[in-house]
Amino acid sequence: MKNTNPIRTQQTQQDMASFPTKISDIFGQDVFNTDAMEAYLDEDSYLAMIKVKNTSKRLDNRLLESIADGIKKWAMDKGATHFTHWFQPLTGGTAEKHDAFYKPSTDDQKKGIEGLTASELLQREPDASSFPSGGLRNTAEARGYTIWDPSSPVFILKTKNGKTLYIPSIFVSYAGESLGNKAPLLKSLRALEKAAIPVCRYFDPAVTSTIATLGWEQEYFLIDEALFRKRPDLALTGRTLIGAASAKGQECDDHYFGVIPERVEDFMKAYEMESLKLGIPVLTRHNEVAPSQYECAPVYEEMNVSTDHNLLAMRVLQNTAKKFGLRAILHEKPYKGLNGSGKHNNWSMATNTGTNLLAGGSNPESNLYFLTFFINVIKAVSTYADVLRASIATAGNDHRLGANEAPPAIISVFTGSEMAAILERFKTNGLCKKPQVKEMVLELDVPKIPLATLDKTDRNRTSPFPFIGNRFEFRAVGSSASCSLPMTTLNTMVAEQLSQFYVSVEDLKEKGTLQEDAIVEVLQQYVNESEGIIFNGNGYDKQWQAMAQERGLANIKSTPYALEGFNSENAKSLFANQDVLSKRETQARYEVMQQDYINKIQTEADSLIDLIQTYVLPSVASHLKDALNIRDGFTDMGLFNAAQTVKNELEVLADFQDNVRLYLCELKGNVLKAQAIKDTTRKSKFYADQIQVLFDPIRENVDEIEKSVSDQSWRLPKYRDMLFI
Ligand code: ADP
Ligand code: MG
Repeated sequence: MKNTNPIRTQQTQQDMASFPTKISDIFGQDVFNTDAMEAYLDEDSYLAMIKVKNTSKRLDNRLLESIADGIKKWAMDKGATHFTHWFQPLTGGTAEKHDAFYKPSTDDQKKGIEGLTASELLQREPDASSFPSGGLRNTAEARGYTIWDPSSPVFILKTKNGKTLYIPSIFVSYAGESLGNKAPLLKSLRALEKAAIPVCRYFDPAVTSTIATLGWEQEYFLIDEALFRKRPDLALTGRTLIGAASAKGQECDDHYFGVIPERVEDFMKAYEMESLKLGIPVLTRHNEVAPSQYECAPVYEEMNVSTDHNLLAMRVLQNTAKKFGLRAILHEKPYKGLNGSGKHNNWSMATNTGTNLLAGGSNPESNLYFLTFFINVIKAVSTYADVLRASIATAGNDHRLGANEAPPAIISVFTGSEMAAILERFKTNGLCKKPQVKEMVLELDVPKIPLATLDKTDRNRTSPFPFIGNRFEFRAVGSSASCSLPMTTLNTMVAEQLSQFYVSVEDLKEKGTLQEDAIVEVLQQYVNESEGIIFNGNGYDKQWQAMAQERGLANIKSTPYALEGFNSENAKSLFANQDVLSKRETQARYEVMQQDYINKIQTEADSLIDLIQTYVLPSVASHLKDALNIRDGFTDMGLFNAAQTVKNELEVLADFQDNVRLYLCELKGNVLKAQAIKDTTRKSKFYADQIQVLFDPIRENVDEIEKSVSDQSWRLPKYRDMLFI
């Protein structure tokens, strides 16, 4: 099967032609940013909007009318005709419902006018009943509200035939419970700030606010649209359920950071341009490890905005790909045997005084301010590893975390050897007052090349949670996931940890210990308690699994079990203590994620059954017909050995086919059994243990069939067709 030629529409030609020489000319042009606010808002409204962006203060409702009017004027000047609240239901994606600005007149002689009222900007009431709520709506009320989040800028999206104003919003029930992901994220940011400020003030009394920063890296695959359409499994489940390995895969390591194919680079430029106009600072693009796998990354931003930007970027990525005759695949594991896709969440905290709380500077060893935050984060991960693991548990991500691929399902922290040595010394000696200032240059014996500097830490691609010198990188997040839940979880864990740290230090101070000594003492205790979570070796290594088990670290490979991390009293109290999620709301997330797992595996089972019945078995039949003709020909010619060889080959094929039929029977039977189970948790565990486990053995046999039948009889695009654009 051949790759089809790219379908390049006029639109894409235009998109490509106009990539600007100066990005600053287009950056944020479709966003109601500070410049737009200055032009369209009165002074009070402008100042209020700036303040809401930079602090946790509520926006004054009295200003809503004038702000709504300013936003409407701006949006209409930009050509928008409709507006929509843009919210994040528990599906993990986004949702919207468009309304026109146009208001008909009550006087039928008049034409009516365009407007956006204060209440339209503030609040909408979509029908909440069709979104997953995990039981939050089982009570009498089914109403749901979306309410504007003024701290994430409104923006305009265009399609071929018009433009719509998007208003980032939270999604809550009539009782005020969170039906979406944004409100808990905002609450976790508040919790983190509340816990961090008093700790910061031990070191810098000028700190009055802190923010969490997030820089995501989005991995994805590209495939030719025509081939995508011929693979029902990719189209319906996001991954190939069958498919034998291609002779060439990623063994040669020739794709990573390799030359970006021109067609792909054109696509990337168009995608980036759309993103840049939306104020998403995407500046990095490169090939990833697997063939046809790529990555894009923006510069980090305040976390709430950055999370919205990732959701938006995923959409732009997918829409732009279509314009280039491509499909962007965001699934964690589209192809067996090749690297999966992640979404690395680079996470740190910064103060209003300009300090990155996780940057150790040139002397991390004597920087107690830094060590305080560094060690508290490690301690938080150590205490709540199971909750963090649950936050990234999905059917798709199981293929990365559960397989022999980075990062493993074991939550651990990589500090790097330098920081590990520092922690070791700190544990016994306390703060180092006179650090040995080591010149960090890279000693190279290469002529002409200027001196390069050396980072304080090396990198680790196999750890789920490495320290990268000035931030932690949560690498275990799945590529299709929203950053929301993992980041909410991380913020909340660290908030809880910092609050406890503060209490412990204050306790010691009250008993007469000097502040610095108290801080060191508590931190030393934390280092002792969290040593087990630190692992600086190779996460792929089989030995690590045994070692982790000895250390008592969990290694939960399957989503329904990993989700128990949200079902524990420990997790529920954590979120409730920090006013992020009530126990009921945490329970609801657990339920929704279990149900999501069931739905995903059910879809995969149905697709697999369908593929086998309508593609694989007919392929065998068609191959068999041809082969029998050949065998008969040989027999007619008296070539009995050759005829026998064909027969032998067909017997092997028949065995594979028999295996597939047997497994298929078992699969269908188990699906029926699963459907009779009422309890969500029991059901999802059944899906993992009795249904999902059959996928691999079925696939092994199908892949052998694919390798045995002729190309002519095999109607599905193969890995070699799909992977090399
Ligand atoms: P990698 O080498 O890990 O692939 P990239 O350059 O692709 O690195 O991405 C690193 C990401 O980390 C970028 O989004 C970058 O902005 C982000 N980052 C850097 N510093 C911080 C920080 N202090 N807080 C959060 N993210 C950060
Ligand atoms: Mg990275």
